[in-house]
Order: sequence, then structure tokens, then C-alpha cells
Amino acid sequence: MMKCRHCDDDVVEEDVVATYHYSECGLSRVYLKDVPVRRCSSCEAVTMRIKGLASLHRTIALAVLSKSDRLEGEEVRFLRKHVGLSGKDFARRMGVSPEMVSRWENAKDGKFMIGAGADRLLRLLVKTMDQIESYPVEKLDEITDTVIPLDLTLSRGRDWRVTETPAA
Ligand SMILES: [Zn+2]
Repeated sequence: MMKCRHCDDDVVEEDVVATYHYSECGLSRVYLKDVPVRRCSSCEAVTMRIKGLASLHRTIALAVLSKSDRLEGEEVRFLRKHVGLSGKDFARRMGVSPEMVSRWENAKDGKFMIGAGADRLLRLLVKTMDQIESYPVEKLDEITDTVIPLDLTLSRGRDWRVTETPAA
């Protein structure tokens, strides 16, 4: 018998294939489709061990870069962490105060959101630091001032890929 880390019951855990809400990545609307998960038969909580984490995060990062709306707070934080920068180092690189970075990362529903110039600089920073050639700089022309959080569903074949981007 194993203990479930969610309900603490002694339970049988079953291996199933399901869509997993990948909130651990820091983005609230990222789903992994048809992945092997372990489900607690008592509380039904699911846990998963993700394979190909680097590839998954790179695919998510590219999707975030490619969105045509202004970056939301959690997306700014995701990208900063993706390139391995602390809040302080990121602030220095962007030429702003750590407080400003904190405001950007907590921006929600269009409040305190990152400015249009800083948004573009951040995308270029990520493109350069992660060597994402498939993100053309021309895409920067298309970024609008609206804030629509990214809604992502990914699945894994040989590599992780975006399968659906539901229209907001
Ligand atoms: Zn449980």
C-alpha cells in the first residue's frame, strides 16, 4: 500500500492515461493531453512524472513568445525562469528595478502589465538566450496591446507539441 500525498489515505493507485493540468509550470492554463498519470482511487488526485521536461518547457516557451497579445504576469515569470535568471539579474538585464519586475510578474487582467517595449525586449532576450531560431523577429510587429492569457494544450509524440490553442 502507498500513501497518497494528497489525501494521505492508504490507497491503491492506478495508472491511467489522462489530460493533466500542468500547473507546476507556473502558467495556469497549460494542459498535457493523454499522458500517463497515477490516480488515487480514494480522492482521485492525479500525479505524473513528466518525460522530456526540457523539450516540454522549450515548446511552451516558444508558444508564449509567439502569442500576439501582451505578456501576462505569469508568462513574464515563466519566461524569466525559463532562461534561468533570478528576479534581480533579470531586472538588471532589462534595465529596470527589481520592484518593476515584481509588478510585471504579478500583472493580471491588464493591471500593472509589462510595457510594450519591455515585452518585446523580453521576447528577444529569450529568443537569444535559448537560441530559438523558429521565432522570427518580424513577429514583434504583430504584438497587440490586448492581454489574453495563453491557453495551451500539448501532447507528446517524439517531441512535445502544441495540439490545440483554443480561441479565447
Ligand atoms: Zn488520495
